Amino acid sequence: MSVIKELEENLLQHKIKPTAMRLLVLEYLLDHEIAVSLTDLYRDFVKSDRTTIYRTLKAFEDNGLVHSIDDGTGVPKYALCSDACDVGKHDDAHIHFHCDKCGKTYCLPKFSIPHFELPESFSKNEVNLVVKGICPDCK
Ligand SMILES: [Zn+2]
Ligand SMILES: [Zn+2]
Ligand SMILES: [Zn+2]
Repeated sequence: MSVIKELEENLLQHKIKPTAMRLLVLEYLLDHEIAVSLTDLYRDFVKSDRTTIYRTLKAFEDNGLVHSIDDGTGVPKYALCSDACDVGKHDDAHIHFHCDKCGKTYCLPKFSIPHFELPESFSKNEVNLVVKGICPDCK
């Protein structure tokens, strides 16, 4: 199967109609081990406008292909999901790591967020765990 064909399959599995733009964004995300921001994508896709890129990411997020990460920088980052995610359903309770030196944000899918209890009468919607430190590239 060609790479393009595989990317198309991946989109179709998540009920996303493959378009040239969506294939490009998916390929970009696959090529990057780290989470990327809208600005990263925009910088590398000069021919497209921010709204189109944003809509593409939003569609991916709604359909369980990428998750957004709040790493505390105030700029949302996006990364590909595992196979556990599907249309309208995310299962990304893993730790994220933000490097204080280079500013990169990593997904650590093998490290899940530990279970904990909240005080009575607090109810949680989502849990976000970002570890800050120095990444292997900056060591
Ligand atoms: Zn997900
Ligand atoms: Zn680093
Ligand atoms: Zn992640």
